Amino acid sequence: MTRAHIAGNPERLTAQQRELIDIAATLGREKFAPRAAQIDRDAVFPFDNYADMRAAGLLKICVPVAHGGLGADFATYVMVAAEIGRHCGATALTWNMHVCSTMWAGFIADALDMTPEQRAEHERIRAIHFKRVVEEGKVYAQPFSEGGSAAAGKAPFGTLAKKVDGGYIVTGRKIFASLSGAADYYGALCTLDKPGATMRDSMYLAVPADAPGVSISGAWDPLGMRGTVSRTLDFKDVFVPDDARLMPEGLYFQAAQRFPHMFATLSPTYMGLAQAAYDFTVAYLRGEVPGTPPVKRRMYPTKQIAVADMRIKLEQTRALFLQNARDAQVDPDRDTRMRLYAAHFSIMENANDLARLAIRTCGGQSMLKSLPLERIYRDSRCGSLMLPWTAELCQDRLGRECLYEPGERDEEIVA
Ligand SMILES: Cc1cc2nc3c(=O)[nH]c(=O)nc-3n(C[C@H](O)[C@H](O)[C@H](O)COP(=O)(O)OP(=O)(O)OC[C@H]3O[C@@H](n4cnc5c(N)ncnc54)[C@H](O)[C@@H]3O)c2cc1C
Repeated sequence: MTRAHIAGNPERLTAQQRELIDIAATLGREKFAPRAAQIDRDAVFPFDNYADMRAAGLLKICVPVAHGGLGADFATYVMVAAEIGRHCGATALTWNMHVCSTMWAGFIADALDMTPEQRAEHERIRAIHFKRVVEEGKVYAQPFSEGGSAAAGKAPFGTLAKKVDGGYIVTGRKIFASLSGAADYYGALCTLDKPGATMRDSMYLAVPADAPGVSISGAWDPLGMRGTVSRTLDFKDVFVPDDARLMPEGLYFQAAQRFPHMFATLSPTYMGLAQAAYDFTVAYLRGEVPGTPPVKRRMYPTKQIAVADMRIKLEQTRALFLQNARDAQVDPDRDTRMRLYAAHFSIMENANDLARLAIRTCGGQSMLKSLPLERIYRDSRCGSLMLPWTAELCQDRLGRECLYEPGERDEEIVA
């Protein structure tokens, strides 16, 4: 059976997009999918998949060409990420954390305002980080969440970076730190420790995993996305040099305001899972799932209607996904932001709905632990939980922006 292309019509893609998606598809089919069950069962990090991605150049996908990377743009990255998510959700989600670190320091920083001195200093420092990725295959994680309102973008980060001679002393705790114990550097968001610090004083620092004062704690036995190994990270008086800055002081705040599509980099994984739920259903109804008897179920009209409904929802999801991919730019207008919330919400929620429909359509034997569908179902449930744009927070933002012009307030009602 011809498999749907993750990015729709491949003829509409650039040569680089086609080539990188093909690499991801081959790795995914031949390596990641066969390993996914064990990674999920044991809740262990997919080290072998990372070795394959490193060899294929995928760790440097968004490192600028001038720094030895592949120089992929936002649209190219999300399409490749979705293809990886089609085969292993945990690999795609953790790879997202790594690639985002190179995007923030790379093309996002290029699009932002800096003084000439800041830009020159950023150029010098990011060369150090990019070299680690390109030449040494190092992996960066992205631990932002703290359990309070900071990761939702509503309060300053509680992790503090105190300026000292030659660097910073970092102290704080990050929860749900994917790649804990696997990354070489933790790209942590902190607040510059100074009186009256606000969200504008956010710092983005790469903390070496082996720095004195870094520790990992807590069990990891979740419902889904088990291979992300997202345990708790503690930083206790960790010294990092000035070169640890992934962005100049204060720049992360500007980036978060002006490039909101970055927060939707979590949805490509779920686009891939939506596709995986559909792929499984077609193969199952055709009696072609490896390890199951060759029983066909496709001749029942109810199955045909159910799979048609799934394909309709999948194509709706893909259309929104591609719209997001192509809309990403610095300073999107208000309407584009609203489309972005709606698209991100829909991709994450539809992925789980498609997995639900897949189980209902295929039937009882399809959800046995020996088959991938129940894992896809569990993994797909995790998308709507990711801050800062959980499903609820997308609705919060969208509902408000649909009804209020910027700066508009309701008159106070006096009882
Ligand atoms: C598999 C997995 C991997 C993850 N990996 C990472 C990672 O690598 N890095 C990282 O930084 N985080 C990561 N996270 C964490 C994730 O982004 C969230 O921070 C975490 O799931 C939040 O936990 P919570 O729902 O208990 O949060 P809570 O803060 O308790 O929020 C609960 C819900 O309340 C709502 N809410 C929260 N704050 C507000 C507010 N201020 N206003 C209105 N509503 C609000 C949100 O809808 C949220 O879903 C990961 C999570 C999962 C599940």
